[in-house]
Amino acid sequence: MPKSPLELLKIDHLLSSDERDIAATVRDFVDRRVRPNVADWYERGDIDLELVKEAGSLGLLGMHLTGYGCAGTNAVSYGLACLELEAGDSGVRSLVSVQGSLTMFAIWKFGSEEQKQRWLPAMAAGEALGCFGLTEPDFGSNPAGMRTHAVRDGDDWVLNGTKMWITNGSAADVAVVWAQTDKDQPGKGIRGFLVPTDTPGFSAPKVKHKLSLRASITSELILDNVRLPADAVLPEVRGLRGPLSCLNEARFGIVFGSLGAARDCLDTTLAYARTREVFDRSLASYQLTQAKLADMTLELQKGFLLALHLGRLKDDHQLDPEQISLGKLNNVREAIKIARTCRTILGANGITGEYPIMRHANNLESVLTYEGTSEVHQLVIGQALTGENAFT
Ligand code: FAD
Repeated sequence: MPKSPLELLKIDHLLSSDERDIAATVRDFVDRRVRPNVADWYERGDIDLELVKEAGSLGLLGMHLTGYGCAGTNAVSYGLACLELEAGDSGVRSLVSVQGSLTMFAIWKFGSEEQKQRWLPAMAAGEALGCFGLTEPDFGSNPAGMRTHAVRDGDDWVLNGTKMWITNGSAADVAVVWAQTDKDQPGKGIRGFLVPTDTPGFSAPKVKHKLSLRASITSELILDNVRLPADAVLPEVRGLRGPLSCLNEARFGIVFGSLGAARDCLDTTLAYARTREVFDRSLASYQLTQAKLADMTLELQKGFLLALHLGRLKDDHQLDPEQISLGKLNNVREAIKIARTCRTILGANGITGEYPIMRHANNLESVLTYEGTSEVHQLVIGQALTGENAFT
């Protein structure tokens, strides 16, 4: 009886029954709500925002946070949910991880009690959507250089600037916007602001003509004299440490999530290779095909063991940023290689939207870039190994 790639190592044996149940619930949600529709969303360059409420009712939004209506699961369960969501599409996983790991986490970790009460229960239920504005047109890998700034005017704050590539931006109810408050000390005076998106001076035009992550909303955020009350600032953090700690949460989700895209490519390819006949035999029966399948399965399983190890470290409060960099660097890099190799096995069929493979491969180009590019993660690991900062 042929085995599926993750069954080969009996990886399920490393998971608790709660963790397996959560993965199965999310897989079922993806099978029902994402798989039948995602090719159409992708082609239209859109996503069904009803998914937000549905993900909320399943407890997936901010699921690893505690209190305020959040599910309070362990980190491994959150990772498995990301994996199952990304097996559907990286855009769907992005929607959920920007909501939970970036926006809700920022409020949960650095917000005042009033801010938490106002936003977190609604966001956990999927009644309010958030986005996280850090990147700017000229500052991606180096957010310390950001030009968006906030100045005091009496008790108020007035924000000006432009953010770029912001997931969920045009559909969000609230934006966490990071801005300089002290122009003489770049990076040091960065503060986070909660900006309700109906505030005058705020607009969020969509980025058009994307060839990757099309089933996801990506926007520019324009802040033109956006006036906010004194209590709009996140009180508990100052400096880049704030946004970077949120990024670590989201990067952790990608360590698992990227494997979902790879698993879906591999499952699709295995099924295809068994039925496709070339030179009068099934494609699966050729040694060259099997060598590719074996190598991809090996990388998928190594990636999963790495993700699980990092998840267990996170649940034990032992996870360091450079370990997350190892996981993100490896798992996204291997996932994209798997997607491209699977594409070769499907031949011409591999380039159509009828199969998910080219969509996953294209999505993974974004995943390779956001939450720290591969080069940035190499530099993080390099610094941990050598003690030398090669960023600047
Ligand atoms: P750059 O920083 O200009 O990098 C260009 C190249 O230079 C890369 O290869 C990079 O690795 C390399 N490089 C950079 N620094 C060094 C160095 N020191 N040494 C050697 N090479 C280097 N941002 C948000 O804030 N919120 C979001 O919700 C969000 N969603 C996104 C969704 C999508 C679909 C995409 C594509 C991006 C999103 N981003 C978001 C932005 C993303 O985080 C940035 O694109 C990323 O940080 C890289 O920045 P950049 O594109 O400006 O590239």
